[in-house]
Amino acid sequence: MISILRQATRLGWAQTDSFVRRRLLIVVGLVVLAAAFSALAPLALKYGVDALGAAGTSAYIPESPILLICLYVICLGLSRGCNELRGYFFGAADQRLQRNISRHLSAHVLRLPMAFHLDRQTGALSHTLVQGIAGYNILLTHLTFTLLPVQMEVILIGAVIAVYMSPPFIMILLLSVAGYIIVFTLGVTKIMTPSRDVSASQVSAYGTFADSLINSEAIKYFTAEKFINRRYDRALALAESRWARFHAVKCGNGLLVVGVFSLSFGAAVLLAASQVAQGALTIGDFVLINAYMLQIIRPLERLGDGVKGAAHALGFIEKMLNILERKTEDHCDAKPCDRPSRALIAADGKPRPTQGGDVIFDRVSFGYRLGQTGRGQAPVLKDISFTVRAGTTTAIVGRSGAGKSTLIRLLLRFFEVTHGDIRLGGISVRDIPLIDLRRTIAVVPQDVLLFNDSIAYNIGFARPGSTRSEIEQAARMAHIHDRIMALPEGYQTMVGERGVKLSGGEKQRISLARAALKDPLIYVFDEATSSLDGSTEHRVFDDLINKQRQATRLIITHRLSSVLQADEILLLDHGVILERGKHDHLLRLEGAYARLWRDQERERQGA
Ligand code: ADP
Repeated sequence: MISILRQATRLGWAQTDSFVRRRLLIVVGLVVLAAAFSALAPLALKYGVDALGAAGTSAYIPESPILLICLYVICLGLSRGCNELRGYFFGAADQRLQRNISRHLSAHVLRLPMAFHLDRQTGALSHTLVQGIAGYNILLTHLTFTLLPVQMEVILIGAVIAVYMSPPFIMILLLSVAGYIIVFTLGVTKIMTPSRDVSASQVSAYGTFADSLINSEAIKYFTAEKFINRRYDRALALAESRWARFHAVKCGNGLLVVGVFSLSFGAAVLLAASQVAQGALTIGDFVLINAYMLQIIRPLERLGDGVKGAAHALGFIEKMLNILERKTEDHCDAKPCDRPSRALIAADGKPRPTQGGDVIFDRVSFGYRLGQTGRGQAPVLKDISFTVRAGTTTAIVGRSGAGKSTLIRLLLRFFEVTHGDIRLGGISVRDIPLIDLRRTIAVVPQDVLLFNDSIAYNIGFARPGSTRSEIEQAARMAHIHDRIMALPEGYQTMVGERGVKLSGGEKQRISLARAALKDPLIYVFDEATSSLDGSTEHRVFDDLINKQRQATRLIITHRLSSVLQADEILLLDHGVILERGKHDHLLRLEGAYARLWRDQERERQGA
């Protein structure tokens, strides 16, 4: 637990800025003041009570009971006032800290490697992060509202007690403090495991729920609402039982605390009563002992709650810390670094003209790591070599699962090649900072990825800061401008989650417009026009290619009719290049390509 606390503190501290620190400092000051006033109050009460009984006043203490009772009330009032102010300053610091941690988390998670994102469960991940941030709030709340003030109170009241009380009472107090420490340590160690379990089961339940939402359309197709809801309920039931276990452990510990309280408070009050009866103590002393015992025991109990609360919060934070420990991709944009890629990208972030921008796959082999352990590889690409000359078009065709998309993932360095090298303009992609590499290439993927925002936002996101006319120009190139203008809200039309309010063809053309706006050196079309008819597809390609710089193009498709004009066609099969050449040459080979072509032609004529 200590190591998690250390990690959590390190992260928390790294995210505090001067705004947070100043306010936390004020909070600490207010905590000290509140504790001081709260420790003084019973003293004023004792002397007030004694003055009322006209006994026991000393030369230093004013004899007016009214003044003393006023002092008592003022001390209590000031103590509470400080607490209220503390809440105000704490709120501001806490909100800023949560904002900073959330921003840091989002930046971190977005930069985690593709392998992480392919494995993740969106709902579970977002709940882990929300829970982790809530954990920080709980931790900080306990730290400033419980642990810190109570410690202050215990120290101050302890000091007053040491001065004003006789050894038997101090003994009782010390024994009760020892009792509390034992019980709390027990509580903290016992509560960590149920707290972790609760966190895991809640994350899993939210993951299940989010998964159902993402797949709501599939659920409707199969009227699987009841079936899916039962799956969610099973996850909820697990969370429920783990919460029950958590509360049982907490309650068991609470009962032990009550035992320590009853013993120590009972012993102190009985001892005081017997001493009053013998005339060794005044009634004021009895009141004082009673007040101090309560005043020190209650904070001690709160301290215990605080420690248990903090342990619970750490159980929540732990999972988030695990994610934060994962290594992110190095985009090389926050620090000065070697940029051999200056040959490709100018200082203003724009790709340079294409001279020498060949894409070379040099004896590339690759396999995905399998399973949770990451051991074992499924070979997907085997010794692949080809060159795409700058400004030319290469098509990669082949059956589904042949490894076509994997080639692109390697080019973008979503994954690292197992053997061989990929070079861009003569530079190994390993040496090109990711920010430059990915700026150079525009991918139009098969599954269009749209944000739940306006069409203008979805196109403009390719190049932040682009003007409306640049966005419209890109939309024209993708042959979607007129269609957008026909919509009642034009470019401000909201596209829905993942673009559900648009047709497949519209989504694809927005995706193409987005790529055009990026104005890259290399276009990668990964089944990017499967929802467009043949003539629109040709017009879009012509516009993208001819109206812009002579970009290099890699087209992945299963529709051979889309790539008749390609400078080279590679037929990929089970991770190897089976045949390569221009369309006519491949037909003359009378091999696998020719068979595929004839099959597709037959289908087209039959259709
Ligand atoms: P294509 O684009 O030609 O349809 P892919 O490159 O997407 O093929 O996939 C090639 C092979 O790699 C397939 O057998 C697929 O199941 C496997 N594969 C793809 N992505 C992963 C992954 N993240 N982890 C493990 N295997 C994968």
